[in-house]
Amino acid sequence: MSEETTPLPLEEIAPVVEACVAVLSQIPSALITDIDGTISAIAATPFEAVVDRIAAQALARLAGRLAAVAVVSGRAPAAGAEMVGLPGLIYVGNHGMERIVRGTPWTHPAAEAARAAIAAALAEIEAEVRAQGEAPWLLVENKGVTGTVHYRLAPDPAAAAAMLEPLARVAAERYGLRVSPGRMIVELRPALGVNKGTAIRELVDELGLRGVVFFGDDVTDVDGFRALRALREERPVLTLNIAVLGPETPEVVAEAADLAVAGVPACAATLADIAARLDRADEMTEGPAEAHTLHDNDATPDVTRGGRDQGEIG
Ligand SMILES: [Mg+2]
Repeated sequence: MSEETTPLPLEEIAPVVEACVAVLSQIPSALITDIDGTISAIAATPFEAVVDRIAAQALARLAGRLAAVAVVSGRAPAAGAEMVGLPGLIYVGNHGMERIVRGTPWTHPAAEAARAAIAAALAEIEAEVRAQGEAPWLLVENKGVTGTVHYRLAPDPAAAAAMLEPLARVAAERYGLRVSPGRMIVELRPALGVNKGTAIRELVDELGLRGVVFFGDDVTDVDGFRALRALREERPVLTLNIAVLGPETPEVVAEAADLAVAGVPACAATLADIAARLDRADEMTEGPAEAHTLHDNDATPDVTRGGRDQGEIG
C-alpha cells in the first residue's frame, strides 16, 4: 500500500479531494469523520470546542448526496450531535459503544452495564489526584459508558500524565474497565472489543457501502483506518483514510492513513470541495439546473438554501 501521508496544506488539497470524490462516487457510499481535531479545533477544554462552520455546512450538503454521513467520536453521541447540529447524520459516540441514528439512540448492552463502574472509577481517580494536592487543572468528564480525565490545562502535562496513568490503571483494574490513551487525556472504557474500527465495519455492513472515506486525527481513529484497510482487501469496497495532522498528532495516525491534510482548516476546505464536486456531478447527470456561479474555494455555501444553487470551481 502506498504511503503518501505528507500533510497537504490548505492550498494543496486538490489531490485529496480528487481521491475522495472517486471513492464517494461509488453507490452507496459514506463519508465518516471524527470531531475533535478534524472538524473542530482542539480547545483548552472539550466544552469550549466548536465545529468549524465550513465543515458543518459541507457535511450538511454531503448528507443530501451520500447514503450516509457519520460522525464517529469519543464524545457521548448526544454531545457530538449537539456540537455538529445536523439531525440527519449518524452519530457514533463513546468510540462505538453508542449511536444516534437520525434521532434514535442506541447503547451497546454490555456497555450500558458499565455506567456505574465508569462513575466509580472516575471518582476514585479524582479523589486520588486531589489527595496529592491542589489540581485546578484536573477535568473529569463522565460520558456515561466511558469517562475521560483531561490534563490539557496542567502546567506540566507530562507530570500530570505520569501521575494519572498509574491511577487510571489501578481504577480500571478494580472496576473491570480498560484504559486508553489520547491527546492530553486518559480514557476509561468498558473492557469490550468495541472501537471506532468495529463501529465503522458495522456501518459498512448495515448500509452495504461500496465507498467509504474516513477523516481522523488521533490514536483511536487508527482502529478505523485499520478496519477500512482490511475491508478493501476483503471485499469490493473502496476505502480511503485521511489523517488530519496537527502539531500533537501521534506518528501512528499518519502511518495508518492513505493521505493527510494539515489541520482543521484544510480538513474543512477538503470537505467543502468534495461537497461542491459531488453537487456539480449530480447537476451534470441530472441535466440543466440553475445557472452556475463561480466561487473561490473558501466561499461558504449557504446550506439553508439546500446547496443545490451553489455552483463552484474546484
Ligand atoms: Mg480526534
